[in-house]
Amino acid sequence: MSHPEPSHADNRATLNEQCRPSGYRNPDPQSRYNLVVVGSGTAGISTALGAALLGAKVALVERDMLGGSRLHSVTLPTKALVRAGRAAHALRTAEKFGVTLQPIEWNSAGVLDYVRAVQAKSAASGSLQELLDRNVDVFFGTGRFVDAQTLDVEGARLRFARAVVATGVRPAKLGIPGLAECEPLYSNTLLRQARLPDSVAILGGGPVGVELAQALTRLGVSVLLYEQRLRILPREDADVSTLLTGILRSEGVQIHQDVRSMRCVRNGNQRTIECDANGLHAVHTVEQILVTVGNTPNIEELRLDQAGVEHDPEGIRVTEQMRTTNPRIFACGDVASEHHYPHASEALARTVVGNALFFSNASVRDLNIPTAIYTDPEIARVGISAPDGIDSGLNEAHCFLSANDRARLDHSEAGFVKLVHDRRGQIKGATIVSPRASELIGEVVLAMNHRISLRDLALTVHPYPTESELLRKCGDYYRTTLLTPAALRLVKKIMDWRR
Ligand SMILES: Cc1cc2nc3c(=O)[nH]c(=O)nc-3n(C[C@H](O)[C@H](O)[C@H](O)COP(=O)(O)OP(=O)(O)OC[C@H]3O[C@@H](n4cnc5c(N)ncnc54)[C@H](O)[C@@H]3O)c2cc1C
Repeated sequence: MSHPEPSHADNRATLNEQCRPSGYRNPDPQSRYNLVVVGSGTAGISTALGAALLGAKVALVERDMLGGSRLHSVTLPTKALVRAGRAAHALRTAEKFGVTLQPIEWNSAGVLDYVRAVQAKSAASGSLQELLDRNVDVFFGTGRFVDAQTLDVEGARLRFARAVVATGVRPAKLGIPGLAECEPLYSNTLLRQARLPDSVAILGGGPVGVELAQALTRLGVSVLLYEQRLRILPREDADVSTLLTGILRSEGVQIHQDVRSMRCVRNGNQRTIECDANGLHAVHTVEQILVTVGNTPNIEELRLDQAGVEHDPEGIRVTEQMRTTNPRIFACGDVASEHHYPHASEALARTVVGNALFFSNASVRDLNIPTAIYTDPEIARVGISAPDGIDSGLNEAHCFLSANDRARLDHSEAGFVKLVHDRRGQIKGATIVSPRASELIGEVVLAMNHRISLRDLALTVHPYPTESELLRKCGDYYRTTLLTPAALRLVKKIMDWRR
């Protein structure tokens, strides 16, 4: 017998129970901790659990809810919205597969309930109970350094041998005239609304902006996307921007690039955006404005100077061992890294635990950290991009999705795989644009980490029909480049001789 889905209230209650139960009381501090961790996002929780697993005496300090932005405000909630958008899009385009449907219906309250349900399910990992089961002392409150070896939490003094600051970042306030009066939404407030807006102007054509633009447009929201630079996803290979711009426009997103002199005006529940974009003057009125660019590190309350920890507006300064200017204190995650991804925070946390608790001096410099953008198709990258690779004398092996049977049967032939390599076939970077790019990039990272060459990839049997065959095909392509005229002449001689 199937159980009814938990209600919105149930999910909210589960989240509170897992991440900050109302009856919880902070413990009495121990005399000294091996490790005090400030912030319980992915970076903080991975560090605390990793250290506790090794038997260290650990305290974890969180001023809000356990889990941080991954669980409560940005990563997972926005990915759930993306998934809901995919469901609507699949229904809307089902006739491509010969399937006709009744007019499809959805309501944004239902979509937001689904988002909350995913959060409630995910809250179990890194929950208060898991931390307590691992003998981590959990303190709710704002952490403030008193001196180089002591942190204050609402009056309780935590003395530490080592500490880790993992306090993350928050959306920055942009200085656009009239924007503040428009009370814009941010990536961490959009999904706390009771419903999705009817129309939205998204400021910022970066990974978050394009993901939300596509998801919201697929969920019936009228979307305008504004990007200051000449193209959306300015950090990616230009071919990626061109391809995604075409797809978003075909799905109904209005894209304004090269945006200059923007100003916003509020009229009751409506917001008007005026700017010069693509060399033209544009004026649009929408229900909401959503800001997806700009972050500010969460450091003001920490009193870092008391602990001798140097910092600047970008965040906390660290060495490649993630050590701050106070050798007892490390930093991890968004507050101290350019890689703003939970998987990066986890990887950095592993290095920090080793360097903080033992005598290792491991560096994070050579970590191959992939990125993934969850548009449809997805965009994944690791290492050097193809244009930069070519400029620095490397080579490129590439394949198009239009040549792949899995893409053909999925009706999603827009995309490519580009593997950047040296003369010996060692992979130096990759950009993948395909429906499952985020799942494919892991194989490339493995190859880079273990010096597996394109030749090895060509000899690795991949199942048919899959997108991963494209990685093998890039290997095949590389091998054909080894068949130089001289090599071909030699092979021909051998064939003539063996005939
Ligand atoms: C809109 C958006 C979408 C994203 N989508 C993705 C994605 O799809 N994939 C991906 O890989 N990454 C994504 N990211 C990035 C990802 O969310 C972050 O990289 C990651 O969650 C950062 O983890 P963190 O542990 O460094 O910080 P956080 O998760 O921000 O945790 C920091 C914690 O510290 C607490 N804190 C701060 N100051 C104090 C203090 N003084 N005392 C006590 N506690 C304190 C905060 O309350 C917070 O809980 C996204 C980011 C945004 C903004």
